[in-house]
Amino acid sequence: MEPLHSGVRDTPAPRDRFDIAKGVDGHLRMRTWHYVQKPAEYDIQCDKCHGSNLWWSEYEGKIWCYDCLLDVDGTEGVFGGPIPIELAGVLGMSFDRWDMVNKQVLVWDKKANDYVPQITDRKSDVTKETP
Ligand SMILES: [Zn+2]
Repeated sequence: MEPLHSGVRDTPAPRDRFDIAKGVDGHLRMRTWHYVQKPAEYDIQCDKCHGSNLWWSEYEGKIWCYDCLLDVDGTEGVFGGPIPIELAGVLGMSFDRWDMVNKQVLVWDKKANDYVPQITDRKSDVTKETP
């Protein structure tokens, strides 16, 4: 076993938040998408300070609180119950997703029953359709 204190202390890197979170919970997975709107738009609050100065954490299932400067669980917001899609639309809520990997907007496709890349106007970008 290695000694707990080796005497070597790493200089905090710009992404030390990442390293800290990883150290606390090695099971955190990097987020690959987030909703296009801010967490507060979905009634999500910081579960620590109950503030709404939030953004999607880089970790799945986490919310970044600008006031606590922490990755927090956040409250469930509108996701705590069945989401009335029509009402959500009226309230200006969008469940479109930002695909952080491919840097594109994903929209819900009823036919595919999945999120698919938003169709763009680029005519040159026609992909081969499967029957
Ligand atoms: Zn907070």
